[in-house]
Amino acid sequence: MTIWQTRAAALYDGGFRPMFIGGQWVPAASGEVLEARNPATGALLATVPKGGSADIDAAVAAARRAFEGPWSKFTPFERQALLLRIADRFEAEWENLCLSDTLDMGMPISRTLANSRRVIGMLRFYAGQAVALHGATIPNSFPGEILSQTVKEPVGVVGAIIPWNAPIAGSVWKIAPAIATGCTVVLKPSEEASLTVLMIARLMTEAGLPEGVLNVVTGTGSEAGAALAAHPGVDKIVFTGSTATGQAIARAATGNLKRVSLELGGKSPVIVCRDADIDKAVPVAAMAVFANSGQICIAGSRLFVAREIHDEFTRRVAAYAAALKIGNGVLPETEIGPIISDRQAARIEGFLSAGREQGATVLTGGARLTGNDFEGGNFIAPTVFGAVTDDMVIAREEIFGPVISALPFDTIDEVVERANATTYGLAAGVFTTHLGTAHKLSRRLKAGSVWVNMYHAIDPAVPFGGVKMSGYGREGGVEHLEEYLDTKAIWINTD
Ligand code: NAD
Repeated sequence: MTIWQTRAAALYDGGFRPMFIGGQWVPAASGEVLEARNPATGALLATVPKGGSADIDAAVAAARRAFEGPWSKFTPFERQALLLRIADRFEAEWENLCLSDTLDMGMPISRTLANSRRVIGMLRFYAGQAVALHGATIPNSFPGEILSQTVKEPVGVVGAIIPWNAPIAGSVWKIAPAIATGCTVVLKPSEEASLTVLMIARLMTEAGLPEGVLNVVTGTGSEAGAALAAHPGVDKIVFTGSTATGQAIARAATGNLKRVSLELGGKSPVIVCRDADIDKAVPVAAMAVFANSGQICIAGSRLFVAREIHDEFTRRVAAYAAALKIGNGVLPETEIGPIISDRQAARIEGFLSAGREQGATVLTGGARLTGNDFEGGNFIAPTVFGAVTDDMVIAREEIFGPVISALPFDTIDEVVERANATTYGLAAGVFTTHLGTAHKLSRRLKAGSVWVNMYHAIDPAVPFGGVKMSGYGREGGVEHLEEYLDTKAIWINTD
């Protein structure tokens, strides 16, 4: 038994974990529960409330009371101090947070532990921003002594809906800007991974977050999620998840014309030019997909490789994939963990079959993993497909699994056109040693983020988001704060 396995047994014992509304830990109004199971073993970790519209009503009411009551009296400096205390609390509990995520959604502990910069860094970055928010005094065209100025005001009650693939970063990136700006939050985690989000609510409360500022309603998308998106008492929805759900949320938000920002899916291209440093590019291009078992929105799942180096490069990526250590994320040596659920693994297997049926060749992987090490869990071997063409399903649809489609290209103009020929526009990667090519490609690729000779860089200070059907709005950076603010114009006739 590893130290992590010993600690895991103490963290979750199969018991009931209530949700958090108006500062109280409560069951669902219906009394119904959902099971939280470990995707690496199938073991029951806990049950959580299956919240519904009555619980969303209660949470929105609590968030409104806090927004209009005590929370509105907090000065920016008090909100800053609170964010810093929360960051300290997270730092102290970081290993438990990471372990909870590993147990609940499978991400290897080695990877979750490394994410602190993105989470604790985000809390501290927005602590700094909390005291820097300001409007402007603006000259106007009126005669006389007429003063015009803007002030920034919090948008109000924010409904946040997140997926299961990164619960810690996913929730903190939605809550931290709310605290910085003075909004309140009703957060609906994924039904597949609620436990760490409940732990986050506890840590924030211990750090002094007042009652009602953060409410967590666990439950399904079709009940709790849909009720939150449509709720007339919610002023803004921030959503991360699939494009289809994003569309449903945008439609549901029209009832009270609440503001919406959407971080959605992707089918991101990674372009390896013939002048690329192959030794450096191979592991980065491989992990652009295989990190978190491919369950990342920015997975660089279309690997365009210059024809001259295509065969050698894809062979080396396949060899890298074949050597990855797959298994239970609590084992320190594990590099690739399980897929979140049996349903999701079956969906990925459907893509593996479609790839084969349409004529792609499996260079490595291509199947679900079975045997003692994988008993009870949902594991898919890291897979590289060769002989892929742009029209194949595996080259067009978001798989959200550990699957690379390798595609040769001949010219820069051609690869730009093919890379952009997707409804998505979340991210792109470029590998080249030529500065001009790096610059040209990064300007011409239609994506919210482009990484050159690297991948996966996401930082609290740098805006992240998509174009086209990968969504709208930005998270991170000062842009993110604007999503949580209204600008009010104030006119004063001083005569
Ligand atoms: P999903 O869209 O199925 O679910 C996301 C969340 O929405 C969950 O909490 C779910 O319960 C809720 N939901 C589902 N139906 C709803 C409805 N009708 N109304 C309101 N809420 C509803 O996504 P998923 O399968 O959990 O996550 C995978 C998807 O998320 C992928 O497409 C991935 O690309 C995307 N994603 C995007 C980003 C990004 O930053 N762009 C980050 C991570 C994941």
